Amino acid sequence: LSSFGQAARPTVAGFFADNEFRSSLKMTRSTQRQAHHRLQVNAVQKAEYIWMDGHEGMKGIHFNEMRSKTKVIQNDIPPGSLDFPDWSFDGSSTGQAEGRFSDCILKPVFTCPDPIRGDPHVFVLCEVLNPDGTPHETNTRHLIKSVLSQDILDEDTLFGFEQEYTMFNKAGKVYGWPESGFPHPQGPFYCGVGLEAVYGRSLVEAHLDACIKAGLKISGINAEVMPGQWEFQIGPAGPLEVGDHVMIARWLLHRLGEDFGITVTFEPKPMEGDWNGAGAHTNYSTKSMRKDGGMKAIEAAIEKLSKRHGEHIQQYGLGNERRLTGKHETANINTFKSGVADRGASIRIPLPVSLAGKGYLEDRRPAANVDPYVVARMLIETTLKN
Ligand code: ADP
Ligand code: MN
Ligand code: MN
Ligand code: MN
Ligand code: MN
Repeated sequence: LSSFGQAARPTVAGFFADNEFRSSLKMTRSTQRQAHHRLQVNAVQKAEYIWMDGHEGMKGIHFNEMRSKTKVIQNDIPPGSLDFPDWSFDGSSTGQAEGRFSDCILKPVFTCPDPIRGDPHVFVLCEVLNPDGTPHETNTRHLIKSVLSQDILDEDTLFGFEQEYTMFNKAGKVYGWPESGFPHPQGPFYCGVGLEAVYGRSLVEAHLDACIKAGLKISGINAEVMPGQWEFQIGPAGPLEVGDHVMIARWLLHRLGEDFGITVTFEPKPMEGDWNGAGAHTNYSTKSMRKDGGMKAIEAAIEKLSKRHGEHIQQYGLGNERRLTGKHETANINTFKSGVADRGASIRIPLPVSLAGKGYLEDRRPAANVDPYVVARMLIETTLKN
């Protein structure tokens, strides 16, 4: 956890947040030390049950936000196990049920260590079910399972999800932006360094450490083109796994933001004008694309994607039309365009992939608030199912 050894940033919010986070880590370490003793008596474990809600008008296909609550479990269940009990919640308070018959069921589907509370505490990611046990309409995860037939499993599909997000302060300004007016025009911020170039790095570092401690397949972070905007990458991972890890990573960003006084949003175009929007480029490959001569399979996939552009766009995030303007490294929402190393394309073939003649493609269309389970399912359906 090297980043916590660094000096606190001299902003008020950053200063307190860093100290607060450091002392919470200390508690975690002593909790770990005590865990041994407790195991011999009666180990108490906090399981944070996490699920996607049903925000009004979003109905699962566009955008989901996170909810969670804690279950105290009297005997440890190891992270990774799915022996956690089903639970329920009041769906009328999350946009997932009517008031009179409002219980929804939480069915554990993925668990990992809780890096904030520390060992033996865990996160329990859940699918939401109706009272009769059928999948809730906001449950997009279960739909992936129905497309994973043996021929699809044999293609061993992999996804790399580039999650962009924007930080806001409590007053509703982009984090680090001046009280009045605007920062410098875009240019020095992407992958920048220095107090004037990047805002909010202490949260970004804490989030990276937390994701690593949770065992998520996080593969990198970078500051984005608009100041106060950042990205983390999850992958390469399978279609269910990438969504599960993205969901936990999103929850962790919101949760750590509480301690840092920072609100994180996945809104696709948080600032109108000459400011980049926030996307979720999805890198995708099949076994056929990754083997020698895989470029043929990549081109065939792009051809199929060109024919279902409208269907994909419809499900690629709420408000994405404000982001996909044809400017700011996007293709216009009404145009399907592919190209090598072309950041103004809908689908980009990365230069190293073009040079090697094999690898993966990048779908640049999804908005930051897209449902990762939906993107993964649609890429599989369009490129591998007739
Ligand atoms: P960009 O240059 O577009 O910013 P990034 O480095 O942010 O690219 O993200 C690239 C993503 O592609 C990473 O998440 C990485 O894990 C993923 N990736 C790499 N190889 C593959 C592959 N064969 N299939 C799917 N995803 C891949
Ligand atoms: Mn109550
Ligand atoms: Mn990237
Ligand atoms: Mn990016
Ligand atoms: Mn990208």
